[in-house]
Amino acid sequence: MTTRADLLEALGNLSEVGRVAPCWADPLAGWVSEIPREVRAAKRLCAPCPAFTGCREYGTGEGKRELGVYAGQSMTERLNRTTNPTKAA
Ligand code: SF4
Repeated sequence: MTTRADLLEALGNLSEVGRVAPCWADPLAGWVSEIPREVRAAKRLCAPCPAFTGCREYGTGEGKRELGVYAGQSMTERLNRTTNPTKAA
């Protein structure tokens, strides 16, 4: 299980070696936007993120009720997938 502290530590470590997560490099790019076009853009930017796996684990676990995009999924998508396993990707 990836906790918020785990994810933040991983993001910090990646940043120190020059592998900055897209949401840290450009935090205003739509991760917490309510504008669909901006949310779609943020989701696309998550795809090559070096923290993607841990972020997905956090976003579908401890952080599933947090607003915003985590690892290419909105809060609504994460909640639907964690409460309805038949929708799991
Ligand atoms: S996968 Fe997670 S850490 Fe990476 S850019 Fe997306 S929201 Fe940020």
